[in-house]
Amino acid sequence: MALGEFELIDRYFREAGCRRGDVVLGVGDDGAILRPPEGFDLIAVSDTLVEGVHFPAGAPARSVGHRALAVNLSDIAAMGGAPAWSLLALTLPRADETWLKEFAKGFSLLALEHEVSLVGGDTTRGPLMIGVQVLGFVPHGVALRRAGGRPGDLICVSGTPGDAAAGLALLAPDAREGVGDPISRAALRARFEYPTPRLELGRQLRDIASACIDVSDGLAGDIGKLAASSGCAAVIDLECVPRSEALATLVREGVFEERDALRFMLAGGDDYELAFTVPPENREALAELEARGDVFVIGTFVEAKASEPLVAIRTERQELQQYLDALPSSFDHFGG
Ligand code: ADP
Ligand code: MG
Repeated sequence: MALGEFELIDRYFREAGCRRGDVVLGVGDDGAILRPPEGFDLIAVSDTLVEGVHFPAGAPARSVGHRALAVNLSDIAAMGGAPAWSLLALTLPRADETWLKEFAKGFSLLALEHEVSLVGGDTTRGPLMIGVQVLGFVPHGVALRRAGGRPGDLICVSGTPGDAAAGLALLAPDAREGVGDPISRAALRARFEYPTPRLELGRQLRDIASACIDVSDGLAGDIGKLAASSGCAAVIDLECVPRSEALATLVREGVFEERDALRFMLAGGDDYELAFTVPPENREALAELEARGDVFVIGTFVEAKASEPLVAIRTERQELQQYLDALPSSFDHFGG
């Protein structure tokens, strides 16, 4: 690399993110020295983005930097934690300074917003790949898990699932550039390129939710994981699954078909919203979240039965059933 490895680290990553008092020693030594607070459990998460797999080749570097951290912060959010420290394992084909500057900016702005310090990492040459680890805290014993839901609990989701998948579809080379409302197109693309980790909501859910997961692989599949971990089955009411105004607009305009919208909403990944369950006795606390307008009740947990699907999606609109049946094959355990 034209720019030396040490220069590169120094220039772009030594001061990235937030300065925190609990970082005794950050970037520059063999390891970081960190001082966890008393009375808290440590949450550790790790997620890797590979070019061409997790983001399109040639994606804007700022978005790549943002997403690399955001997907990890989303995991911390799903556990009800507060993030603190991060590590960055960067594999680069070359030391492109323009790219690095933008990447570091995307990473750093989000790190600053959530008071995350970059305390170390690794830099190597190879196909573009970004591995991030984040460490965070949660008061002793109260972290949210995927297990914990019971039959009768309400299934909820934050935000409008499917937007990121629609945004990704709009980034594809065959996405009919220039067709449909440009503001809606831009809004959906932004949901893919700059997802918002739901950290504040995750912390609020500690006292309300019985189980929680972040939606990274598609709403129905991730609710299936929540159900499996909780030893329950899920029944989702399709009419209750929210659809963003932007996605609805592009369906009305014919940019997407109804079946695309359903696929994005139920099986599309990359939203980084939270899906969680709430016991009926916490209905009132949930109503306060619902009143803010970005949390929706979409179904219920029921008793798991071997003869019934893990996730059933119900709809009164019979004409939609064929689209539900046609969801990707990894979802064929859903049934109607
Ligand atoms: P070592 O050879 O001991 O693994 P390196 O020379 O790879 O150490 O790294 C020097 C310092 O720079 C270490 O503190 C390491 O954590 C940090 N570092 C390396 N790459 C990155 C990166 N991409 N982002 C942040 N810190 C990094
Ligand atoms: Mg060393």
